[in-house]
Amino acid sequence: MFIGHYGPAFAAKPLERRIPLWLLFIAVQWMDVCWSVLVILHVEKLRIIPGFTEGSPLDLYFMPFTHGLFGALALAIVFAGIATLFFTTPRAKVFWVLVAAVFSHWLLDLVVHVPDLPLWQDTMKVGLGLWRWAWISVPLELAVMAGGAWLYVRMVPARKSDFWLWLFVAAMSALEIYNQFAPPPTDTTTMAVMALVAYGVLAALAALVDRSRAA
Ligand SMILES: [Zn+2]
Repeated sequence: MFIGHYGPAFAAKPLERRIPLWLLFIAVQWMDVCWSVLVILHVEKLRIIPGFTEGSPLDLYFMPFTHGLFGALALAIVFAGIATLFFTTPRAKVFWVLVAAVFSHWLLDLVVHVPDLPLWQDTMKVGLGLWRWAWISVPLELAVMAGGAWLYVRMVPARKSDFWLWLFVAAMSALEIYNQFAPPPTDTTTMAVMALVAYGVLAALAALVDRSRAA
């Protein structure tokens, strides 16, 4: 899952408004940020197989550290623990909202991935596999993202208008649909670098959108 992960980021903002939206955007992709880095370092492994599933050409056969159940929980606690240090007290809510934001990635991946998410080390892999049917997975991703954005719009009022927020949502939807029809990536390192760039750019745009709304 790619764009759908941003649904929980939008939805988490009203829960603890001191957390900037850009940080929530990084949080929900933190597992994939770490995965991209480990792919570049050839620690976690995948094959690019065009048509592997309708929704994704990636055969993610080895990613126990970032996408294993315990790895994901550890990444959530470490990310939230470090980020929370930059907030003033009270900190507990900031911490738990960030833990939930990071871990939401694993739960959404569980829905679309074929069984490649290990419950223990590199074994007992789970995944409901909705990526097998793009006509289900693509609308689902867009709906999860737009649903989160809708909550954010309702709960965090704009100073002037919602125009930029919805333009941002439309651009992310276009990116998701483009991704679906674009040729598969040529090699895993290029793919991982492009993913990191995309996460950075989208977080920066989220910061701009968030600034146009009430604190
Ligand atoms: Zn992932």
